[in-house]
Amino acid sequence: MRITFLGTGDAVGTPKIGCTCPACQDAKNGGRSRRYRPCYLFSDGTANVLVETGPDLRSQLLEHDITQFDAIVWSHYHRDHTGGFGDFWRVRNNMPVYGEKTVLDYVLGEYSFMGHERHDQELHKPFTIGELEFTLFKVTHPPIEIATGMRVRHHGKTAIFTGDTNLDIPAESLALMKDADLLIADAIVPPHIHIPKHMNAADAMKLAEQVHAKQTVLVHLSHMFPPHDEAIKTYPLGYDGTVIDL
Ligand SMILES: [Zn+2]
Ligand SMILES: [Zn+2]
Ligand SMILES: [Zn+2]
Repeated sequence: MRITFLGTGDAVGTPKIGCTCPACQDAKNGGRSRRYRPCYLFSDGTANVLVETGPDLRSQLLEHDITQFDAIVWSHYHRDHTGGFGDFWRVRNNMPVYGEKTVLDYVLGEYSFMGHERHDQELHKPFTIGELEFTLFKVTHPPIEIATGMRVRHHGKTAIFTGDTNLDIPAESLALMKDADLLIADAIVPPHIHIPKHMNAADAMKLAEQVHAKQTVLVHLSHMFPPHDEAIKTYPLGYDGTVIDL
């Protein structure tokens, strides 16, 4: 499978409006600190699945010349992960959408004007889109009750996307995350900062070790990291446009 990282930023995006910090300046100068809100393209070579549709969706699809979308999977209902869904208005009708029931209830309630084909999914129960096998699992992202991560498998390879979570992940979910070829992990801030609903970079690396991930890419990154080229020396930060073939 091919995974294209279309948005490695947090809810604010980098540059943050009105900010002049080193990361935001690097972003404005065209550096890799420039990050759109969350969106990832998973492809088996035939089916294209968007995981998350952040508010920058239209720009992401145009810049990467992505014209085929077969389904959307949402991890949770926060707007930085869903706010671009309306960009499919008069572009792609009746999009198949996948997620846990309360997640779909919320997002489709907000976008009631969008036609869609709804596919409610239970946690820990695999489902397939094209040849990609997805399994949603519960993570911990207070105060919302249901936030999920997902395991994606194709031809014997496994990618894990944590979604938004702190390090307090249920044991049943940790079991599903074991020995992945790729771990895509929420790491919103550097290690000296603690935010109750997210992992910081040290938490994410601890998780990677705990589940024996073969490769780890940190995402959902805020402007609080040093500029990308400096921060990458310490942590395996993703950047918009990262492509990984498994
Ligand atoms: Zn900034
Ligand atoms: Zn969130
Ligand atoms: Zn988020």
